[in-house]
Amino acid sequence: MSTTGVAGFTLGGGLGHLMRGCGLACDNLLAARLVTADGRDLTVSDADNSDLFWALRGGGGNFGVVTTLEFQLHPVGPILLGGGISQPLSAARQTLRFYREFTGGAPDALIVYANLGTGPDGTPRLGMRAVFNGSIEAGKEALRELRAFGSPIADDIRPRSYLEIQRLVDPNFPPGRLNYWKAHFLDDLSDELVDLTIEALKRAPSRLSAIALEPMGGSVARVGANATAFSHRSAAYSFLILAGWEDAHQTEANVAWARDLWERVRPLAAPGVYVNYLGGEGEQRVREAYGPNLDRLVEIKRRYDPENFFRMNQNIRPA
Ligand SMILES: Cc1cc2nc3c(=O)[nH]c(=O)nc-3n(C[C@H](O)[C@H](O)[C@H](O)COP(=O)(O)OP(=O)(O)OC[C@H]3O[C@@H](n4cnc5c(N)ncnc54)[C@H](O)[C@@H]3O)c2cc1C
Repeated sequence: MSTTGVAGFTLGGGLGHLMRGCGLACDNLLAARLVTADGRDLTVSDADNSDLFWALRGGGGNFGVVTTLEFQLHPVGPILLGGGISQPLSAARQTLRFYREFTGGAPDALIVYANLGTGPDGTPRLGMRAVFNGSIEAGKEALRELRAFGSPIADDIRPRSYLEIQRLVDPNFPPGRLNYWKAHFLDDLSDELVDLTIEALKRAPSRLSAIALEPMGGSVARVGANATAFSHRSAAYSFLILAGWEDAHQTEANVAWARDLWERVRPLAAPGVYVNYLGGEGEQRVREAYGPNLDRLVEIKRRYDPENFFRMNQNIRPA
């Protein structure tokens, strides 16, 4: 996605195309400058205000206004192998079972997102978006089995600039569309969950809705759960229910669809939720987003924002 901002993205964690090889956005943060509630302009890094530096990497906008972010750079492309491959919905069950094995054994340089939704021709389908951060030849080899599986109805995986890859999903989120998202983390993709999501797509009141899987692992999982404020390191997938619709009269039906699917998946999901995929879902859910790091985040919040000036967020209360 090319239109979301970098600050909120990084402060919440930052899941992206390169995360399996290069880590989350917050893992690549070297330093930041932050204006605190009492007006101090602080440099924050491993060497300076290290408690705040820890908290900023997953604790969201709770501690101040970030005015500068300094990142670790990595060689990327500039041309990478990337794009989408689609299977008909009738093949989604077998393909997702294959996808589970394929993503489980994928090299860190490769990420393949899955998306159950409706294609541009109005037909429900399973889309997969692949990005390989390495040579084109190595990428072709890494994707060979996936592209040969079953009978894809579309395959536009080809060499593209990284910027083009970042824009691939932009058309799915045009300005003005109504959206309601709910999320889980998953430790695995069970057969039961596969069947449940396919059935849910068939019931979706809007053809603009989708259900997405974002494989994690790799570099994300090699950082300890307490090393940064973002703790959800061991999840195999981020699971997103993306209800989208255009007619405001359809809001109730679409929100109900997303909530119903979220409840059905809940017993199969891992604990916790990604703070940047959380809506207004109540205090308990906010606690789950910060998980085992909440107590330490509260301590740091007390130190830097005891009056809870920065509270229009997934709020860490100082008391
Ligand atoms: C279409 C779409 C696709 C997305 N895809 C992904 C994805 O692939 N991976 C992913 O990880 N997330 C994704 N997100 C979620 C995204 O991480 C959040 O929306 C994030 O908040 C975007 O950052 P922003 O700077 O635009 O935040 P804003 O919407 O501007 O702000 C959100 C909150 O972030 C905090 N914040 C923002 N800027 C600052 C600052 N300078 N200082 C302190 N706090 C600040 C504040 O608490 C603020 O309330 C997506 C969101 C959308 C809408």
